[in-house]
Amino acid sequence: MTSPTELDTGLPLDMIIFGGMGDLAMRKLLPALYMAYLHGNLPASTRILSTGRQAFDRSAYLAHVEEHSRGFIAGANFNEQTWNGFLQLLVYVPLDVQEAADFNALAQASRAGAQRVFYLSTAPALFIAICDKLADAGLVDRNARVVLEKPLGRDLASAVDINEAVGRHFAESQIYRIDHYLGKETVQNLMVLRFGNSILEPLWRAPNISSVQITVAEEVGVGSRAGFYDGTGAMRDMVQNHLLQLLCIVAMEPPTSLTPDAVRDEKLKVLRSLRRFRLADIARDTVRGQYVRGVSGNQEVPGYLEERNVPPGSKTETFVALRAHVDTWRWSKVPFYLRTGKRMARRSSKIVVEFANPPFPLFPETPGGVANRLVIELQPEEAIKLQIMAKQPGTGMQMQQVELNLDLQSAFQQRRAEAYERLLIDVVRGRLTHFMRRDELEAAWEWADPIINGWGTLDEKPHAYAAGSWGPAEAFALLARDGFSWIE
Ligand code: NAP
Repeated sequence: MTSPTELDTGLPLDMIIFGGMGDLAMRKLLPALYMAYLHGNLPASTRILSTGRQAFDRSAYLAHVEEHSRGFIAGANFNEQTWNGFLQLLVYVPLDVQEAADFNALAQASRAGAQRVFYLSTAPALFIAICDKLADAGLVDRNARVVLEKPLGRDLASAVDINEAVGRHFAESQIYRIDHYLGKETVQNLMVLRFGNSILEPLWRAPNISSVQITVAEEVGVGSRAGFYDGTGAMRDMVQNHLLQLLCIVAMEPPTSLTPDAVRDEKLKVLRSLRRFRLADIARDTVRGQYVRGVSGNQEVPGYLEERNVPPGSKTETFVALRAHVDTWRWSKVPFYLRTGKRMARRSSKIVVEFANPPFPLFPETPGGVANRLVIELQPEEAIKLQIMAKQPGTGMQMQQVELNLDLQSAFQQRRAEAYERLLIDVVRGRLTHFMRRDELEAAWEWADPIINGWGTLDEKPHAYAAGSWGPAEAFALLARDGFSWIE
């Protein structure tokens, strides 16, 4: 619990959510705000203004929240009285982004002199119109903050357009580009593990590290999001943002401090050091996949092309695996394997840092041994494990892999906030460290664009993989070629 004075900016807080009736707002944002409220992490003056196009009155809106949001608060955290108190903070403002008059109504609903946080949880195509109209309605002042959801644009040009337009009304220090992976406790802990200890740092480089794998596997298919997803694909939806941000945290140099710019400068250097893909590299080092009918969660599920709203013959990738390189002294010749997909065998996000084998195989009973690995699990559970070799008890000298489990759950008997809750609290407190700066975002697109364009030039069908599997065979071959395999 934070003391009220730490939160008290002296201004009432108006959190204004665009897309306030949408899936993200209902499943994540309102539950995260409820949790922040429950734990005293919102200023007492907070009001949450949700906008949407439906002409709901307040009671219809609250009924919608009851039906679509309440269920996403874990039972143990739910308290009827607190929930009712939280509902008192909520206001619904009907608003169509295209209608300037609706922004005047929003200006009426927002308190004069309030600190305004605008959360843009809509398609990015609406961001420019929203920011322009907010400014026209006099809602943007130097205390205002704006949170931008991903994906921010669909290529470098559109990301630049959005950044320029938002930047006309908000200073960079007022802009919070959110990537919820940066809000995960384990990802933030990776910074502490790397830079708060001296044990790993000397090892954290080539040639001690032989490879890094980053997997973000989803069990779900595209579901009702096919309309959005088909124009996006896994590269734009996941790799350009989440996977690259994770890569940055693994690969960055120690920042000089934890100030937002010191951390973001180091991440930017990583993004700028990512080796660019030429057409031949794309053909050799990337794998696109698309799921076909299979079994997921013990149920037969349709293939991507059979999903509602997917155009016949779509070549959109629902899976990507690729081999990237960070061209710096630290990471010379160390492959970074990235993999993400929908309808994979199970939901699992993890970073695996594989250390080089000992230079000389001393134990003939276990020739080759198994590499030491640091495994950072992000989903479904967060955990950090160090896999090392130990002697199997007995008279021989047989080695076996054992895990040193840095069990943070039992080490710290305290609640771990969800990523959205943590990041929303950061926004309220004005902490930018775990948000992306403009140049970072654009550097990520600069790397991703040639790959996406190259796929367009090659115009190949994505490789098929069965729903419920770990992706196409080609993704396994990508690593096998270098003597590695994916760690599930
Ligand atoms: P969604 O369910 O489609 O919600 C988008 C909202 O935008 C709708 O509720 C809609 O409100 C509103 N909207 C559309 N046109 C509008 C207009 N002209 N004026 C005012 N409001 C308008 O989408 P979502 O899944 O919540 O995602 C929102 C954003 O977050 C997207 O950029 C998405 O990529 C990103 N995101 C989503 C997730 C997720 O898990 N859902 C995760 C990460 C990022 P009304 O229909 O009520 O008017």
